[in-house]
Amino acid sequence: MISTPSRVDFHCHLDLYPDLALAIDACETSRTATLAVTTTPKAFRQNMRMARGAEFVRVGLGLHPHLVEERRSEMALFEALLPETRYVGEVGLDAGPRFYRSMRQQLSVFRQVLSLCNAAGNKILSIHSVRAAGQVLDCVEELLPRDSGRVVLHWFSGTQAEARRAAELGCYFSVNQAMLERERGRTLVASLPEDRLLTETDGPFVENDEGPIGPGDVSLAVERLSALLERNASDLQRQIVRNLVALVS
Ligand code: MN
Repeated sequence: MISTPSRVDFHCHLDLYPDLALAIDACETSRTATLAVTTTPKAFRQNMRMARGAEFVRVGLGLHPHLVEERRSEMALFEALLPETRYVGEVGLDAGPRFYRSMRQQLSVFRQVLSLCNAAGNKILSIHSVRAAGQVLDCVEELLPRDSGRVVLHWFSGTQAEARRAAELGCYFSVNQAMLERERGRTLVASLPEDRLLTETDGPFVENDEGPIGPGDVSLAVERLSALLERNASDLQRQIVRNLVALVS
């Protein structure tokens, strides 16, 4: 029998916390269905080994757009490891000022990732899209048809028109507490279809007053989301679990 998770953290860097085993334990104890994203293919196997036997933690194979310039030679390893998991992330594009210069390489890697996922079929991807929402959606539309893979846009910050386009392409959105701090983010999130919403921490990058957010700790994200959508928090949390079940089924 498969137990139902209580909540969802669909984008967390468990291996960037000081103790990966403890981070996995925290997600298990709180029954948080967690996608442990990785930033390089080399990091994948250790995560898989540590998460073996975990009920609520799944490991994504990733190559973060910030690391593409130095790590793109690991694409061969990415391809070799892809059959070992259904989940891919963190991948994507970042056209912000610090990473703009590697955009050509990022595009080449991202297109390759999407093509490999399309060929493999049935993958679920957690995608980064800073200042590149339109380009990410162009690539997804061209290279990963809806029936051959599923896309979750992590920390989406595009326009409302881009959000509509993403929803029409079948994308889900994982929302964290930091996205809901400012009006622009709140307005965007309020426009998303409720049956495509997931929660995430993006830990340990998102921080609380006391330091990095805890692994799987989506409590503030759920609280802010329920205030924004005027929904009861536990109902909303259950809906997000149902959204996850629909995504992976
Ligand atoms: Mn991330």
